[in-house]
Amino acid sequence: MALVSSKEMFEKAYKGGYAIGAFNVNNMEIVQGITEAAKEVDAPLILQVSKGARAYANHTYLIKLVEAAVIETGLPICLHLDHGDTFELCKSCIDGGFTSVMIDASSKPFEENVELTRRVVEYAHDHGVVVEAELGALAGIEDDVNVSAEDSHYTRPEEVEEFVSRTGCDSLAIAIGTSHGAYKFKPEQCTPNEKGILVPPPLRFDILHEVEKNLPNFPIVLHGSSSVPQDYVKMVNENGGAMPGAIGVPEDQLREAARSAVCKINIDSDLRLAMTGTIRKFFREHPDKFDPREYLKPARANIHELVKHKLVDVLGCAGHAHELSNG
Ligand SMILES: [Zn+2]
Repeated sequence: MALVSSKEMFEKAYKGGYAIGAFNVNNMEIVQGITEAAKEVDAPLILQVSKGARAYANHTYLIKLVEAAVIETGLPICLHLDHGDTFELCKSCIDGGFTSVMIDASSKPFEENVELTRRVVEYAHDHGVVVEAELGALAGIEDDVNVSAEDSHYTRPEEVEEFVSRTGCDSLAIAIGTSHGAYKFKPEQCTPNEKGILVPPPLRFDILHEVEKNLPNFPIVLHGSSSVPQDYVKMVNENGGAMPGAIGVPEDQLREAARSAVCKINIDSDLRLAMTGTIRKFFREHPDKFDPREYLKPARANIHELVKHKLVDVLGCAGHAHELSNG
């Protein structure tokens, strides 16, 4: 069993009305928490590495951790570069064993985005690697990606067909109201429900459906799709943290998106919250402890539970790993 590309995963997800979870990895505990959950529920998986993760943990460490997860779980796992911003970075990941890369030139003018994406696609396809590109700009901060609300804009459905046919990209990330980070919506944008929980404005499904019509059978990707579980925000805040007003995308919206052309949903902030909340709580309850294994173990266990919930209840991809030809 080796790393796989996302090609067959997306074909099956498109037909099956579910989405593959793409989770960001930075260290061993995160890799283990995610992949053990996926194994438990037989889910195909995309593990993604950002430029920041590569700078933090080093390419070789990350790739060997992911390879270890493939050996330990026997799962089909795709290793993806998240938000590659240059040809050189994409090339280095392709040469270094990644099976999928994203070239994000969405902040550039249309023609420049086409040009750079096409160049990466040419190199990637020559090496059996698939490419995700992006049209539209999501607001928010994630590692090196920082787009202000004023600079963000929704994907224009009238541009997608030309973009995909000219670039040859294999999947397309679009902007329909999701955003990076743990502060996706301001409280004043939200309406409280009967339980007093703030509900953000809905995603722009009208744009998604237009895109779907213009690109039949083509896999769409949603970035910035953490739901920012309020239990973990509370855990952070009750144990010395300060994250007031952190709000994410409701899970029912993501479930609806997963039934459509959306084949890949990116989740990172929720894992960060689960890990940080758990470790903060542990430290407050056990100020005398200093063995990293003692606080990383419950953090890994909570990442496992969170990812399992996403795979089963939100993405709908549980039970589908064995259907892949290499699954
Ligand atoms: Zn992203």
